[in-house]
Amino acid sequence: MASPTETLEFQAETRQLLQLVIHSIYSNKDIFLRELISNASDALDKLRLESLTDTDLAVDTSDLHITLEVDQEARTLTVRDNGIGMTRDDVVDLIGTIAKSGTAGLLAKIKEAKDAEAAQSLIGQFGVGFYSAFMVADKVTLRTRRAGTEQGTAWESDGEGTYTIAQADGLPVGTSVTLHLKPADSEDGLGDYLAARKIRQIVKQYSDFIRWPIRMAAEAADADTDPGDGEAAADGPETLNSMKALWARPRSEVTEAEYSEFYQQISHDWQPPAETVHMRAEGTFEYEALLFIPAHAPFDLFSRDTKRGVQLYVKRVFIMDDCDALMPNYLRFVKGVVDAHDLSLNVSREILQHDRQITAVRRRLVKKVLGAMKTMQTTKADAYAELWEQFGRVIKEGLLEDRDNTDALLELVRAASTNDPEKATTLREYVARMKDGQDTVYYLTGENRQTVESSPHMEAFAAKGYEVLILTDPVDEVWTDQVPAFDGHRFQSIAKGQVDLDHDADGDVSDEAKAEKAQREQDFADLLGWLQTTLAAHVKQVRLSTRLTTSAACLVGDAHDLTPTLEKMYRAMGQELPPVKRILELNPGHPLITALHQAHRTKPEDPALADTAELVHGSALLAEGGDLPDPARFTRLLTDRLSQAL
Ligand code: ADP
Ligand code: MG
Repeated sequence: MASPTETLEFQAETRQLLQLVIHSIYSNKDIFLRELISNASDALDKLRLESLTDTDLAVDTSDLHITLEVDQEARTLTVRDNGIGMTRDDVVDLIGTIAKSGTAGLLAKIKEAKDAEAAQSLIGQFGVGFYSAFMVADKVTLRTRRAGTEQGTAWESDGEGTYTIAQADGLPVGTSVTLHLKPADSEDGLGDYLAARKIRQIVKQYSDFIRWPIRMAAEAADADTDPGDGEAAADGPETLNSMKALWARPRSEVTEAEYSEFYQQISHDWQPPAETVHMRAEGTFEYEALLFIPAHAPFDLFSRDTKRGVQLYVKRVFIMDDCDALMPNYLRFVKGVVDAHDLSLNVSREILQHDRQITAVRRRLVKKVLGAMKTMQTTKADAYAELWEQFGRVIKEGLLEDRDNTDALLELVRAASTNDPEKATTLREYVARMKDGQDTVYYLTGENRQTVESSPHMEAFAAKGYEVLILTDPVDEVWTDQVPAFDGHRFQSIAKGQVDLDHDADGDVSDEAKAEKAQREQDFADLLGWLQTTLAAHVKQVRLSTRLTTSAACLVGDAHDLTPTLEKMYRAMGQELPPVKRILELNPGHPLITALHQAHRTKPEDPALADTAELVHGSALLAEGGDLPDPARFTRLLTDRLSQAL
């Protein structure tokens, strides 16, 4: 017959941990149910495994499941499983003691922690598991019988210093945990855990993909079923979870339609994804990942606090949404699930950020996603082009954020180009078309395609047949400055530095051309010197250009100067900058410049010369889409000049 009830003391560390749990280290109390269901699910896994390996074990495994039972009158919630169960010794060892190593040290650190947040992040390193029941219950009763044994055990505690343990007869194989609930108190974060609706919601949120059915007994389900909400069957238990963890199935067994449906469910998208990445990692850190690249951008892609789309699960238990540790910011549009097998259910964001294994997972996921996009370029070219339209601006942020993947990212870049105004090009295609002797990738940035395309800087490149990339996303202004080269070819802005297109296929400039240039520079030396003084307020240098064929003048920067667009962006963000002075380049073959040259030589004192200088500078600024320093003055100078000419 049953032996008398024994009262035992919790091990000192367990007691301390219980105190922490009870005095609410967790702001979200709902998670107790997730913990208990996860334990029940583990127990079902274990029983099934044992029934397969131990043929002598006479247990029925045909209907392994978890049941939730509510008793409104007694104010109890019971989580029951027909899993492996525990012996008396198991209960003392597993429930009465915290066997995990390092507990004492951890508790000491928690006590030293300065504030609640620090304590919470520390406790996250350690699964509180079963004890989380004491967040919502003032008494917990556990009844259990180990498969293959006859004698059951009852354990009970109020979470203070002691627990009781006794034999219990007539128990089925498995475990039930009965929580005597504290009164609901929304301020304390205590929901009404007797309400079927609340239970359904928590199960759906945290335990939907648990592979065993989680049933709610019919009475509980009925207790607050709305009239007309005919889902809860009066004649049987209701299954609360879908159990469908697509990511845990082999890829070959999942259809496109299933992927698509799952994607739409987690993303609230109405279209199928552009691409699916499904992988499983085995070894020291096991996980499954099912990721989706959406076909179109959400409206809030560029708002400051868009959520990242990857959810973290631990062994099919939902842990958190938008897990930023798993996806870099520039892939924030990727949706999906990562199910890691060896993490604590209580792992916090902060811990994940610093976890070496998580960092390794993230690195691998990023490679997979970038690889999938690369493959799309060949297998689904049109879909890829559309994907780039949608997300290219975001992906290019990776060129600034993720130096490890610069090469992979550059392979993905598509840009408008002078080669074919209708069709964007990849850098690889650009390089394949480069002229003999060309070793740099030429590009021009600007606010919109039209001003870039018709910018004077383009002239010589167009005339000599050099292809130029047209980059008009704000991020282009930045990455082109920071990424040194693609496949050994430097990036060169055609609006910066000196350009020399007069070389032959080997990159050499002929002696004749050199002599001609030197002669020209000598001819114009006086004019250039005078202009530099006259326009000193606006430009830092005036020189002859080799990039113009039809325009009279243009403005260029030094290699590391801010571009006008970038300067504008910084100012718009409220940054104070000294004015960025640029270089005025003149086209020595243009009639206006030759006339100015002539006039300066014959009538150097003529006051009209200075006005012309201002007009030349202002026109160059306008041609590239820039803002005049004094538009009214420019207009007056121009109209005066026009009326004189008529
Ligand atoms: P963890 O699940 O991280 O091991 P818990 O505190 O949740 O920590 O549970 C402690 C241990 O108690 C479990 O490892 C398991 O051995 C045992 N246990 C808890 N719940 C059950 C259950 N429903 N059936 C069988 N064993 C259980
Ligand atoms: Mg557990």
